[in-house]
Amino acid sequence: MEYNFSVTKTKNPKPRPQDESKLGFGRVFTDHMFVVEWNKGEGWHDAKIVPFDYLTIHPASTVLHYGSEVFEGLKAYRWADGSVKLFRPIENIRRINRSAERMGLPQIPEELMMEGLLKLVELDADWVPHGEGTSLYIRPFMIGDDEHLGVHGVAHARFYIILSPSGSYYKGGLAPVKIMIESHDVRAVRGGTGEAKCGGNYAASVRAGEKAEEKGFAQVLWLDGVEQKYIEEVGAMNIMFKIDGKIVTPALTGSILPGITRKSIIEFLRNEGTIVEERRISVDELAKALEDGKLEEAWGCGTAAVVSPVGLLSYNGKDYVIGGGKIGAVTQKLYDELTGIQWGKQPDPFGWIVPVTKA
Ligand SMILES: *Cc1c(COP(=O)(O)O)cnc(C)c1O
Repeated sequence: MEYNFSVTKTKNPKPRPQDESKLGFGRVFTDHMFVVEWNKGEGWHDAKIVPFDYLTIHPASTVLHYGSEVFEGLKAYRWADGSVKLFRPIENIRRINRSAERMGLPQIPEELMMEGLLKLVELDADWVPHGEGTSLYIRPFMIGDDEHLGVHGVAHARFYIILSPSGSYYKGGLAPVKIMIESHDVRAVRGGTGEAKCGGNYAASVRAGEKAEEKGFAQVLWLDGVEQKYIEEVGAMNIMFKIDGKIVTPALTGSILPGITRKSIIEFLRNEGTIVEERRISVDELAKALEDGKLEEAWGCGTAAVVSPVGLLSYNGKDYVIGGGKIGAVTQKLYDELTGIQWGKQPDPFGWIVPVTKA
């Protein structure tokens, strides 16, 4: 199905950032955004691309009081030939619908979101930066927008896509980080909202994250919410380990965000014949493996960082150094392979790349 939506171009294009090394993350926004509204009677209607602007929102709007919000994060990549590409956008589209289902928000047709995404990125394609490791960060989000204070499934919703040219995650090159295993706060429990990409999960994780940062750690590693014994995931990344030659990662039990980077790495490794175990991993197992010299590598994985080597885990005041605090061979290989596919430096045998503009 073709969706015909209106495109209103800005009359006041903003100057594009000249110095790509100063972009940072999510601070600069492009000239346009995609908007579509939903209500129970009409469904999704009035899809349009409009100049980037503030939103007008009723003070009683559901999202402001009860957190009816889900979001996505993906990137547009500038290849050396000048073309712009996306990485597995259908996965983000399907995931926001799964998140929306959990949070009492409506389903958005896959074709509508895909078309909005492609048309918007195409229109603002000049904003996709050129520098090594830079990208155009894409933030789709949906909010519940009923204009009264009752708690209920919403009858009105809005969906947006905004774009932000962003700098390289690794300014000084790939580098191992120190992570603190959080032993008080929990991020999610089975049956809760852990597997939904929703704003509320982040609000609840900020306190532990700030405490960890004060102590000099990059991020928090969450444990399961019931026994606080099993590894779940890092702030905005899934986590993987190489233990005794095998790749292991926590299974998706409902409280972990099903990362697209995680899924891509598992598919990549299995395709080359490497065994990946998705299962429960306790802190005790990690400590024991480390003692026995069998915990060889650890890395986080997510769209922003792609792959982030973990050089140290701290748990209840005790530090566990992994792989001598250096980048492991598998970690480095996965980073090279994935970024190679994303930036077109390597073939794409899986068909993960979706073109937006030509060379
Ligand atoms: C988005 C996110 C991830 C990573 O998912 P990707 O699809 O790989 O970017 C991991 N954990 C949490 C909590 C997230 O929000």
